[in-house]
Amino acid sequence: MITKWDHFQDKLLGLIEHATAHSSFYKQRLQGVTDAGWSQSRFQQIPILEKSELTGREESLLTDTSAKLYTEYTSGSTGQPLKCYKSVEEKWKKARILWGLRNTNGGIGPKDPYAMFYAFNEDDLSTDPVSIYHEVMYLSMLDLSAERLDNYYEALLKYRPQWMLSVSTALYLFANHLLERKLDRSKLPFKYIEINGEMLFDYQRKTIEEAFGPIVYNHYGSREFWCIGMSCSSGNLHLSSDQLYVEIANSDKDGYGHVVITDLTNRIWPLIRYDTGDIGRLSEQKCDCGSPFPVLEVTGGRATQYIRLGGWIANPILFHYVVTKVNRNFPDAVRQFRVMQVQERQFMFYLVPGKGFQEAAEFLLQQELQDKLPDDVDLRIVHQDRLSMEGPKFDYFIPYRQANT
Ligand SMILES: [Zn+2]
Repeated sequence: MITKWDHFQDKLLGLIEHATAHSSFYKQRLQGVTDAGWSQSRFQQIPILEKSELTGREESLLTDTSAKLYTEYTSGSTGQPLKCYKSVEEKWKKARILWGLRNTNGGIGPKDPYAMFYAFNEDDLSTDPVSIYHEVMYLSMLDLSAERLDNYYEALLKYRPQWMLSVSTALYLFANHLLERKLDRSKLPFKYIEINGEMLFDYQRKTIEEAFGPIVYNHYGSREFWCIGMSCSSGNLHLSSDQLYVEIANSDKDGYGHVVITDLTNRIWPLIRYDTGDIGRLSEQKCDCGSPFPVLEVTGGRATQYIRLGGWIANPILFHYVVTKVNRNFPDAVRQFRVMQVQERQFMFYLVPGKGFQEAAEFLLQQELQDKLPDDVDLRIVHQDRLSMEGPKFDYFIPYRQANT
């Protein structure tokens, strides 16, 4: 089983020496760490890297600023997006691991057309519920009413994508809809379904597999690392390769703790003992599938809950899109926010104003929210000095039922 320190120690040492020599951030952080010899306990003395330490100073981690870099941003579900760097070769290396797993599990390749549930953002010119762009069929998550789901079923029959990529909540709603309406699922063209971006609960998996068959795989990943784990035919999530060294930090008596990762191959922008913010545990248990990689159980984080008002259902990510637009027009206007649905039709929008806040920004915020929410919603904007954080993940939307239990 590939979990043992022995398997990783040389690569970790090489990475640490490289990072200390070439990155200004690590020069400071890791100076002297290997002076008294190299061991697992020395490694564990390296402070855990929090995302909040990096936002705004991402470039200080770079070990080579002249290299051709590939950049992308995290989704910012914790309030602050992080700029992530990879070399172009590193990006391809990560892509090969991911496509290798997809090919083994579903027999699909990068050229196969697919469908995905998608939350349109404020920049999209097309607000059509179904759109096809470069062989990818986008189904809007902003409206998941029964009528719309019927349209999606018809569109899938017509365009016949080979596989589907989705967050669990949207696909769970769609699966329930197919089962309730007794729509003929055998006509659907899918060879493979991949869940990503959110926690997949057992009750969701059961329903999704009942609707689509045993072709459902769970992808656990992030912009920082790409694929961290993928579930196997036995339904367990395994680490995807030996190119990430995964630790569970501050674990409780059941072995659950913070999932902390060191990326052994990203040498341009090293992430050493980086806290993903997710809660999980590593299992030594052998899986029926025969994989040499340990099973990772991830829990807690990443579960989003939908906004529901009667029959109207929408993904709370729409609040992020509104705030992004306000901040683009008035930089640093909204520093943090949380939306609480206190009654079914009453929303409290708590905002922490930044330096760029002004009346016109609040007006734009109000206008954008009114556009995106149903007409009869009572919306109140409340200013606060700060918002409290409970647990490792910040919940930016608290739906009605949860707020009252
Ligand atoms: Zn397995």
